Amino acid sequence: MNNTDKIYSLAVAGVQKLIPYTPGKPIEELERELGLSNIIKLASNENPLGPGKKALAAIQATLKDLALYPDGNGFNLKLALAKKYAVDMNQITLGNGSNEILELVARAFLTPEFEVVFSQHAFAVYPIVTQAVGATAVVAPALHYGHDLDAMLQRVTDKTRLVFIANPNNPTGTLLDHVSLESFIQALPDTCVCVLDEAYCEFVGDQSADNSIVWLKKYPNLLITRTFSKAYGLAGLRVGYGLSSPQLADILNRVRQPFNNNMLALAAAEAALTDTEHLQNTISVNAQGMRFITEGFKKLELEWIPSAGNFVLVDLKQPGMPIYEALLRKGVIVRPVGVYELPNHLRITIGTHAENQLFLQALTEILSA
Ligand SMILES: *Cc1c(COP(=O)(O)O)cnc(C)c1O
Repeated sequence: MNNTDKIYSLAVAGVQKLIPYTPGKPIEELERELGLSNIIKLASNENPLGPGKKALAAIQATLKDLALYPDGNGFNLKLALAKKYAVDMNQITLGNGSNEILELVARAFLTPEFEVVFSQHAFAVYPIVTQAVGATAVVAPALHYGHDLDAMLQRVTDKTRLVFIANPNNPTGTLLDHVSLESFIQALPDTCVCVLDEAYCEFVGDQSADNSIVWLKKYPNLLITRTFSKAYGLAGLRVGYGLSSPQLADILNRVRQPFNNNMLALAAAEAALTDTEHLQNTISVNAQGMRFITEGFKKLELEWIPSAGNFVLVDLKQPGMPIYEALLRKGVIVRPVGVYELPNHLRITIGTHAENQLFLQALTEILSA
């Protein structure tokens, strides 16, 4: 075969139309390109404080065992999560990042005859996992940049096998209240699995998180996904989890690869759960940084979307790409969101105070030039 493009026509139709996920630019790459040092990255919603001491100690203590396969059932981490959330261990599915859980649920439930409903401006991984298995993505228009639950429900038919909701949503930071959210889940047909992606739930504060866990008792078609990549500062290790009915977890477990979580990730995540000091510190640095950065936007007369996460979308009222590139030249990596149909916005991850200052200073210089 010498027609090199022929291979594209052989891929699943949905895959032919996919645009690959663009991650935040790595610091090393920008260093190579521009010969800069002191680069700061506020592009991937990582924890600016790094991993906690307890996680690091657990990794150190585990290194000697690396010749062995990890525990394929993740017993200790599941036990710790089960205690934390008062669920049974058989309600937990561990993933190589929560992205893997999103992929497992798509593989286990979708074929080309089914549809998947999610919102405009929602997390970019939803179309990827949907189209990768040949299913059809049905995108509901957003309302004030967030999920319009009524518009989503209107698009649910008997062909809909999955619904994705990110709460808070990435990249917009919007948050749904629990009353509307539960009404939505209740209104879904029992032939439709609801994935509630709570990657940022730790940042939400008290109105938050654990309401949704209670719903697991009522809705066997509900899958909650969470991660150690954001508030717990372990993005590099790739560990996330799903919470669901035991039946739904059993289904995911059938398609999961046996050793999908590595040994260092399992040990670090378990230890991170006990490090409440690091988590509290992370949450408070984020809250202070969010105030500081949004005050800075106000001074620059820029609008932003109020965010419940560890990042914020700023509206530049002009194309974001040139500003993104100007920030890169000053050694500040943020995230353009044109692929999310938000060409005039940039997404900024809240950093340490010093990073936030550098970012605002760079942005001020660029906008006043
Ligand atoms: C970051 C993120 C995730 C998960 O990331 P993992 O590192 O794979 O756990 C999931 N959903 C949303 C909305 C995110 O922003």
